[in-house]
Amino acid sequence: MSDVFYGSDFDELTNTDPEIAQILIDELSRLRGGIQLIASENFTSPAVLTAMGSTLSNKYAEGYPGKRYYGGCEVVDVAETIGIQRAKDLFDADHANLQPHSGASANIAVFGAFLSPGDTFLSMSLPHGGHLTHGAKVSFSGKWFNPVHYGVAEGTEDIDYDQVRALAREHKPKMIIAGGSAIPRLIDFKAFREIADEVGAILHVDAAHFIGLVAGKAIHSPVPYADVVSFTTHKVLRGPRSGMILCKQEHAAAIDKAVFPMMQGGPLMHVVAAKAVALKEAATHEYQKYASDVIVNAKAMTAGLEAEGMRPVTGGTDTHLALLDLQGLGVSGRDAEDRCGASGIVLNKNAIPYDPAPPSVASGIRVGTPSVTTQGMGVTEMATIARLISRAVKSDSATEHAAIKAEVGQLTDAFPAYPRG
Ligand SMILES: *Cc1c(COP(=O)(O)O)cnc(C)c1O
Repeated sequence: MSDVFYGSDFDELTNTDPEIAQILIDELSRLRGGIQLIASENFTSPAVLTAMGSTLSNKYAEGYPGKRYYGGCEVVDVAETIGIQRAKDLFDADHANLQPHSGASANIAVFGAFLSPGDTFLSMSLPHGGHLTHGAKVSFSGKWFNPVHYGVAEGTEDIDYDQVRALAREHKPKMIIAGGSAIPRLIDFKAFREIADEVGAILHVDAAHFIGLVAGKAIHSPVPYADVVSFTTHKVLRGPRSGMILCKQEHAAAIDKAVFPMMQGGPLMHVVAAKAVALKEAATHEYQKYASDVIVNAKAMTAGLEAEGMRPVTGGTDTHLALLDLQGLGVSGRDAEDRCGASGIVLNKNAIPYDPAPPSVASGIRVGTPSVTTQGMGVTEMATIARLISRAVKSDSATEHAAIKAEVGQLTDAFPAYPRG
């Protein structure tokens, strides 16, 4: 046995808790055995996983580097300082806070920094592609604040900037949020900035989905335009499951105070260290190639699905994800998700703009290419996957689904997730 102990030791877990150890094995087989097209998921690197499974988990470090409420923080301080510098360099940002536990926590902190309960904010509506934390009634954002929603125009299915401007003038929101979970197109941050300036609002870009594409220099950055940019670190960015906030220098103190002590207690220092690792990985040429390949693959898969009779919302994609309207096939999003699931293809049903079906049924599916691109698949495989999805969606035969699953197995054998060295 090595005298260096890092924390991650699978034999130790197997001895202590074989039941949970088996779940780790089963989940890895599930990941390896199917095609993962959930647009918000990815396969984080073994280096990131190692940082997360480390003794840094033990450290209480309330506060910020150099200003902690606990002793013994001199080692973890270095990790957080390195991570902050990497985030500022990678995104060319004035200030970075690496402590939010998740994307939703990051958003709570942004609300805490700029709004008081009852204040009005403007954001994209959930059924048009927004996010729960942007004002849904069941979320803190809709319970404690007053959301006004813009959506997409019925013709283009892209953000209706005229509506954003009109609503901003009418309601004078304190904050405007750009971003969401099902937006296949690039967002015009400059237009949002102009509207925010006209009404004196804070511009918050929730870049959870696409920040990895920004990090990889594959799409334009919201950082020059936004007062504050919040995001998850585990989507295209391929880091640990967590959150992060970037902001202009003038908002740095407000954001830091809103993250701690307003919103949370001790940071997860093992995850902060893992975020630093992910930021280092994202600054490489290899990652930049990955980010542009993600988009090339998304375009190829979308074209393949369109050829099979699934209509891409907005007519296509500029990013890592696409929304497909299945009404032309007469199959609901829910049935499509189930049929793909039975065929070893993991994706989610999704409401489309102006969806006549309830959200639990939905008329569309959402597909994303971060995971399959990490596995090394390219446009040829995207065309194959599009045909497999089409066969799965159009059939209710268990025999056909089993046949598709066998073909999925051939593809994942050729491009394994977490390949052994
Ligand atoms: C994923 C996502 C979040 C929430 O992230 P969690 O880590 O799940 O809390 C917030 N905003 C947007 C736009 C997202 O896509």
